[in-house]
Amino acid sequence: PPVNEEMASPQEERTFIAIKPDGVQRGLVGEIIKRFEQRGFKLIALKMVTASQDHLKVHYQDLKDKPFFPSLVEYMASGPIVAMVWQGLEAVKQGRIMLGATNPLASNPGTIRGDFSIQTGRNICHGSDAVDSAEREIAHWFKPEEVSGWKRTVDSWIYE
Ligand code: GDP
Ligand code: MG
Repeated sequence: PPVNEEMASPQEERTFIAIKPDGVQRGLVGEIIKRFEQRGFKLIALKMVTASQDHLKVHYQDLKDKPFFPSLVEYMASGPIVAMVWQGLEAVKQGRIMLGATNPLASNPGTIRGDFSIQTGRNICHGSDAVDSAEREIAHWFKPEEVSGWKRTVDSWIYE
């Protein structure tokens, strides 16, 4: 798969999306994958993993001084997560729009959080907030060989 510097086109932007333990427990894996798939984003990596607290502390390193950090790490380590990489034009920004606001009470209906969750501490999904953090997160969750740079035959019906 192309790394950021080698990215051939804006259509190859990548984002890290994860279904958190509450999303898995609540049976929302298919629903969340469906939304990215039907929009036209391309799935290039996927696995179910129960992350260690140490792994999650690195993933959420920017939040380490927040009062909710210990409970966040405990919640995220409480069960399996579905970790994914989605690729496409504006994948990072559009992924965040599709997820909705961090606080589900501020998320619009039609967003994943706005349709399926109520509280910030149980907001069912994660999405990278910038292209550089997306690349950092992808490298943190996936080995290079776990990411598939496959050719999709339908691309010319999604991009002009
Ligand atoms: P995100 O990028 O929208 O996921 O939001 P952040 O990066 O700011 O926070 C990461 C995650 O920490 C959120 O998705 C929530 O699960 C959790 N979180 C953020 N703020 C709070 C808070 O005020 N209280 C609690 N309990 N959890 C929070
Ligand atoms: Mg964030």
